[in-house]
Amino acid sequence: MVESLEDRVIPEEIREDAEARELALQAWEDIRRAANEAELEAIRVAYLGKKGKVTEILQRLKSLPAQERPQAGKVGNSLKKLLEEWLGEKRTSLERVLTEKTLREELFDISLPGRYLPRGRRHLISRTMEEIEDVFLGLGYEIVEGPEAELDYYNFQALNFPEDHPSKSMQDTFFIHREGIPLGEVILRTHTSPVQVRVMESRKPPLFVISPGKCYRSDVPDATHSPMFHQVEGFAVDQGITFGDLKGTLEYFARAIFGEERQVRFRPHFFPFTEPSAEVDVSCFICEGEGCRICKYTGWLEILGSGMIDPQVFSYVGYDPERYSGFAFGMGVERIAMLKHGIPDLRFNFENDLRFLTQF
Ligand SMILES: [Zn+2]
Repeated sequence: MVESLEDRVIPEEIREDAEARELALQAWEDIRRAANEAELEAIRVAYLGKKGKVTEILQRLKSLPAQERPQAGKVGNSLKKLLEEWLGEKRTSLERVLTEKTLREELFDISLPGRYLPRGRRHLISRTMEEIEDVFLGLGYEIVEGPEAELDYYNFQALNFPEDHPSKSMQDTFFIHREGIPLGEVILRTHTSPVQVRVMESRKPPLFVISPGKCYRSDVPDATHSPMFHQVEGFAVDQGITFGDLKGTLEYFARAIFGEERQVRFRPHFFPFTEPSAEVDVSCFICEGEGCRICKYTGWLEILGSGMIDPQVFSYVGYDPERYSGFAFGMGVERIAMLKHGIPDLRFNFENDLRFLTQF
């Protein structure tokens, strides 16, 4: 609504009629001052209501001489139309002010488009770790965790790694430098196997334990390496545990994770802390053994390392190797997840790219 009447054209017939002109000016002033809808409505009633000033002029027409009626009717109707127009403009203006005030006070802009809140979910690695844990919990294993900053003794020595083993070098292992600690004594654990030693050291068999957690190796990140990764270690120690128990347990595990119809094979291997040792493969579930890119055309996928716990390890924890035997196994959680979901690059797991994370 314009602020001054000069800006607005009052129709000529009103301007030339003293009473109508006075009424129009008065109405303009009243409407301009109206502060809210209620006041505006009162003004409308005062001018255009049943007993309003403009209505009165129009009703008076009947009593006018016939020759004056057309002109007076024109003025009255023009006035009515003009006031309706002004009232309408003012109403729109009041509504806009009210809306703006409400929005400002409520800090709530209903004109903004809705904000998309993506649904969160647990990380693929966490869920894969839990899936693995669940299989072993179902077999009666317990979960034990250990420190990530570990003594060289538990990470290497008590696991029968020779003093000159290459994985003890600076190139492979993160060493912790701290005043008062001899260099090489404390490292970031390179596998979760030290938990085996810690548990055996403090408890007696029977032991059926898995140990999930983070491990560290001084690797440059690439499609298959990461300086931080996750493992699940497991071991069983009791009287009369045989390689047959190891095979049965890991076959059960492999089928629980990769499917009932999987074939499982054991390949001889070497680990310092198990003897004999074996790597475990499952038949490729992508090509069903035919050979494909994922299994590198072998028909088999390597999923973990395992073996019978070396009697030498038992000697470190004070178990009688004549009385007890046991097996141990360890697997990379990232590797299991990547095989299961066909993920081509290890780094995808740690880049926090939602396009990747929300696919699983
Ligand atoms: Zn394949």
